[in-house]
Amino acid sequence: MSKNLTKRAEDYSKWYNELVVKADLAENSGVRGCMVIKPYGYAIWEKMQAELDRMFKETGHQNAYFPLFIPKSYFSKEASHVDGFAKECAVVTHYRLKTGEDGKIEVDPDAKLEEELIVRPTSETIIWDTYRGWIQSYRDLPILVNQWANVVRWEMRTRLFLRTAEFLWQEGHTAHATQTEAIAEAEQMMNVYADFAENFMAIPVIKGVKSANERFAGAIETYCIEALMQDGKALQAGTSHFLGQNFAKAFDVKFANQEGKQEYVWATSWGVSTRLMGALVMTHSDDNGLVLPPNLAPIQVIIVPIYKGDEQLAAISEEAKQLMARLRKLGISVKYDDRTTHKPGWKFNEYELKGVPVRIAIGPNDLANGTFEVARRDTLTKETILSADIVSHISDLLEEMQKDMFTKALAYREEHITEVNSFEEFKEVLENKAGFVSAHWDGTPETEEKIKDLTKATIRCIPLDRKEEAGSCVFTGAPSKGRVLFARAY
Ligand code: AMP
Repeated sequence: MSKNLTKRAEDYSKWYNELVVKADLAENSGVRGCMVIKPYGYAIWEKMQAELDRMFKETGHQNAYFPLFIPKSYFSKEASHVDGFAKECAVVTHYRLKTGEDGKIEVDPDAKLEEELIVRPTSETIIWDTYRGWIQSYRDLPILVNQWANVVRWEMRTRLFLRTAEFLWQEGHTAHATQTEAIAEAEQMMNVYADFAENFMAIPVIKGVKSANERFAGAIETYCIEALMQDGKALQAGTSHFLGQNFAKAFDVKFANQEGKQEYVWATSWGVSTRLMGALVMTHSDDNGLVLPPNLAPIQVIIVPIYKGDEQLAAISEEAKQLMARLRKLGISVKYDDRTTHKPGWKFNEYELKGVPVRIAIGPNDLANGTFEVARRDTLTKETILSADIVSHISDLLEEMQKDMFTKALAYREEHITEVNSFEEFKEVLENKAGFVSAHWDGTPETEEKIKDLTKATIRCIPLDRKEEAGSCVFTGAPSKGRVLFARAY
């Protein structure tokens, strides 16, 4: 298989698009901004889903499902929410087609909906309309619900996985009796996301809160995890919102507290999407193709026979099958590619492109010597391993690769956080080095807006672990209490 991948250094964006398609993750569809996720890409997404779902359930959440359509009147009830999403809504106006006089199919004007329906861009409104019926007293709280679904946001500039008009995600929607409990929930879910990103996807993230400009429409506080891609651009990898009582007030959701007094319910919502697939590609992959962390690889180990003639193949296959059985016992997913239609070199290329973490080659010499040739995808290094050690070696190697990939990404991220103290320096770093720029900011949306207009960089987050440090705003010189992270972002 010939890869012909554009090199990252030549054109990062082109490299990304080509890789997503060539590695069989996804492709563009006939519908503007909407993608087809192919089986190999979907298998990775399923692994993400399974682990996240496990983590949500471990923290007390249950799954449920709400309608795809939201009546326009519900949508309008929370003012800042509708403001934020109005520009990217798909609206259903009719419910029937008919054949026109010219024989063409057209919308039946007699089938106009009395109330237009919005295709959900997010489900707070339909869910809070539902929660009104579920909540009467403090005994009904908390409600800890998650939904796995698709949503539609009519994005104008789309890119496979990173920003699509329809995307897959999960959205958690919780209801609480107190503000303290709701804030704790929003923080907990940000921590769950960070744990997942770092320990499962091997992607280091910065935990923080968004500035007012970047906050979710309708939220009091948006917590986020921010990642840094190999080209120095940031990516919002997940968000968790403390919604205060905004949706409870809009949908009149009250509960009787322990003293029998009526109070509005406190809310959170949190989500991660198929954008994480883009984060995965852009954090780890190289000019040869995908590099998948073992935890997310649909195939963790590929075995390729190198042989001349049927007899050799039969002997190698015997050895390969025994090895597969032993690896599978440890829960390692392994495939043996004995197709006679493709040469070993072609197969090596293909599995490299697809990011399979470990490749084992077995040739006649290995058979004679009782060895295997083991290649790791992340470092592209090879070693010869004795048959007696192979199973424990592979098992340890997968763990080591998972850790090494995180360490490598973390080192890159750390090298790309630059403190600056003047606007000149700010622009210079953005142009020549990219990454996160750590700078003092006067706390106003106007300054953030001006900086964005001039540099395309926005505040990615106010890190939760930032030091208190008196300084002056890099743009206006006004006093600041601490640094925030700016970056150009996807
Ligand atoms: P939000 O509801 O805006 O807080 O977004 C929830 C999650 O979905 C965040 O992790 C976003 O990064 C992600 N997201 C937002 N818009 C898109 C999009 N158009 N395509 C893919 N993911 C998105």
